[in-house]
Amino acid sequence: MYSGEWAGSMCLTEAHAGTDLGMIRTKAEPQADGSYTVSGTKIFITGGEHDLTENIIHLVLAKLPDAPAGPKGISLFLVPKFMVNADGSLGARNPVSCGSIEHKMGIQASATCVMNFDEAVGYLVGEPNRGLAAMFTMMNYERLGVGIQGLASGERSYQNAIEYARDRLQSRSPTGAQAKDKAADPIIVHPDVRRMLLTMKASNEGGRAFSTYVATQLDIAKFSDDAAARERADNLVALLTPVAKAFLTDLGLETTVLGQQVLGGHGYIREWGQEQLVRDVRITQIYEGTNGIQALDLMGRKIVGSGGAFYRLFADEIRQFIADAGAELVEFTKPLSAAVDNLDELTAWVLDRAKANPNEIGAASVEYLHAFGYMAYAYMWARMAKAALGKEAEDDFYASKLGTARFYFARLLPRIHSLNASVKAGSESLFLLDEALF
Ligand SMILES: Cc1cc2nc3c(=O)[nH]c(=O)nc-3n(C[C@H](O)[C@H](O)[C@H](O)COP(=O)(O)OP(=O)(O)OC[C@H]3O[C@@H](n4cnc5c(N)ncnc54)[C@H](O)[C@@H]3O)c2cc1C
Repeated sequence: MYSGEWAGSMCLTEAHAGTDLGMIRTKAEPQADGSYTVSGTKIFITGGEHDLTENIIHLVLAKLPDAPAGPKGISLFLVPKFMVNADGSLGARNPVSCGSIEHKMGIQASATCVMNFDEAVGYLVGEPNRGLAAMFTMMNYERLGVGIQGLASGERSYQNAIEYARDRLQSRSPTGAQAKDKAADPIIVHPDVRRMLLTMKASNEGGRAFSTYVATQLDIAKFSDDAAARERADNLVALLTPVAKAFLTDLGLETTVLGQQVLGGHGYIREWGQEQLVRDVRITQIYEGTNGIQALDLMGRKIVGSGGAFYRLFADEIRQFIADAGAELVEFTKPLSAAVDNLDELTAWVLDRAKANPNEIGAASVEYLHAFGYMAYAYMWARMAKAALGKEAEDDFYASKLGTARFYFARLLPRIHSLNASVKAGSESLFLLDEALF
């Protein structure tokens, strides 16, 4: 699989069990030779069937006959498409087949399959009934990977949009003609077009820095020789992975839509590519755990679950950065400091309210995750500003970073105020309507 000759798939979802995998029905029966026969139907399986590689290794969640109910009764099985002989050559076809291919909104080049397992030979991976934990060993990398898929779509959309905005001539600048030799000015002169382009640029570059930060923590957690550093990084990864998955992909949709908008009607027309990016990025908010579930994971398991300790690790690091930064960075560190204070207060507020009403966490979580994301990007932008400051006169790269950092603090970070207001409105207004009144 590492050499790219074989592909893999992850078979978790069933028609009646997506988020709630505890309800899966796929069964695994133990056999005399130590293997299992796996039977059941999975849906929405990425790369479930194709002929791009000579074999496909399916990792399948299933239940053993005596398994306890719910998520604690799930085991993980390795089920090859073609059996593998002792000498490594391929043998008989295992009874795993594609029932149909889903017709999707986007990612048309990816085969999303219904997969039928009819007493297919499988091998237990890890311990019985510990399958979810075994599958989750890949999850932090997967989730960061999906976050980066969202970011990449936004970046591609930006690159198309910036080229178009320099080229497309429409109307004159409000401050007077800029391209006097032309019939009109390029649309990049218009404030609203600049707002769209800079929102894309600041989101993409902030996201690139943040995903690199999380990836660095993943590497430290896995490869550092220092046990304390590994533990700290592991806790930061636990905290930040749901933010990376959900925030990068939510902003991925916003930025691809903005990139489409910059092209006006041409953004809606297939040949320019912008509409495809909007369609393709949409899945990133849904698969690998919906963004709503990522937000619950952040608030419930990571913040409440660690008694606030994981959050403090990140907040303390930012406060240390602010303390170490020189006076020349105050235009960035002052609003950053206010954003951290704000998130401290918001975190305490939700945790306190949640004690009295279990609906409060779910009511706050998505907007809380966004407030967290904007604060985390502010930290990234302050660090980028620190690296750029003083070098902007000689190098356009740094001038561009510094200008974008200033845009981020002026125009995007203030979004936390509206998010705060929504979070603090609590769950009450969500439950005013009886189900029948919807
Ligand atoms: C193109 C594509 C590729 C995919 N690839 C794979 C794959 O390779 N392998 C695989 O196993 N699966 C795959 N999936 C499935 C995907 O992971 C699921 O669709 C996803 O996890 C959501 O499950 P669901 O569709 O059953 O939605 P549901 O779980 O029914 O959720 C519906 C809505 O309810 C919300 N919701 C559910 N429970 C809660 C809760 N407790 N609190 C708050 N809100 C809740 C969700 O956030 C969502 O908005 C793929 C899906 C698609 C569309």
